[in-house]
Amino acid sequence: MRGVIMYAPGDVRVEERERPGIVEPTDAVIRVAAACVCGSDLWPYRGLQPVDGPSPMGHEYVGVVEEIGPEVRNIKVGDFVVGSFLASDNTCEICQAGYQTHCINRQPGAATGAQSEYARIPLADGTLVATGTQPTPEQIPSLLAASDVLGTGWFAAVAAEAGPGKTVAVVGDGAVGLLGILAASRLGAERIIAMSRHADRQALATKFGATDIVEERGAEGVAKIKELTNGLGAHSVIEAVGTQESMMQAIHATRPGGHVGFVGVSHGVSLDGAKLFFSGVHLHGGPAPVRRFLPELIELIMNGEINPGEVFDLTLPLEQAAEAYRAMDERRAIKVLLTP
Ligand SMILES: [Zn+2]
Repeated sequence: MRGVIMYAPGDVRVEERERPGIVEPTDAVIRVAAACVCGSDLWPYRGLQPVDGPSPMGHEYVGVVEEIGPEVRNIKVGDFVVGSFLASDNTCEICQAGYQTHCINRQPGAATGAQSEYARIPLADGTLVATGTQPTPEQIPSLLAASDVLGTGWFAAVAAEAGPGKTVAVVGDGAVGLLGILAASRLGAERIIAMSRHADRQALATKFGATDIVEERGAEGVAKIKELTNGLGAHSVIEAVGTQESMMQAIHATRPGGHVGFVGVSHGVSLDGAKLFFSGVHLHGGPAPVRRFLPELIELIMNGEINPGEVFDLTLPLEQAAEAYRAMDERRAIKVLLTP
């Protein structure tokens, strides 16, 4: 089969690889219908995170089940399924509490790489959710979005306690930030402020439910949020970048008693204890338990109520994965969908 391997920063190749098979009795093998490049793939691509030798890439996927291990009960061959970046049993106490990304049996969701024609998915019964009927070609990008960026944006909005009567500010205009806006809107937020300085992303933010746009960043961005909220700050702030600047922007833009939902993978962020102590804000985040939200998100997509697939503004064949990475690295694309 064909699959993406990252050799070094900036060096992504599509190669002939061995097709994965069943290893554990709880595994499934899927034929990937669509995969994509994640913002987190750009950290090693840009040399900001080490590449440990040739690495299979991709952890966002939807596809059709080809093969199942002898202990798989809930998933059948032929099912169209959505999974996410971490595999979980969905039965332990942590999973049952809705924190599947911290499952006591967690492991990579697609260690063989999802930017490929086939992928092995561990703990298939707990990890994969079947769509019931086969999706239309138009629904596939939205289901793929549910696999990570929508699920992550949704968790961020829930962690930030977005809801009726709330003003929500969103730091970060990548796919997760944009879908955090969609989530906040679906959760009933009254006002949603998108922090973005790119016209195309502002347009999508507005389409997903943003009511205001703030172009300023850092302290100026915080001042602008305060100005829009009677000097108080937002009730709920979604942080979807993961840098020191974005995290501080999120904390400072939140009113005392408010909530920050942080889902940008933290890179070099350090928080001052005294400042945190006196901020009076709630902080909750981390790797999003996408699995918690998948059944609900799949239903919304299959019923045509949401169309998160709009974040994919470029689609390329798997063979052109190197160009997909370049387009996202150079911010020519918000998010690139890869078709096998
Ligand atoms: Zn578990």
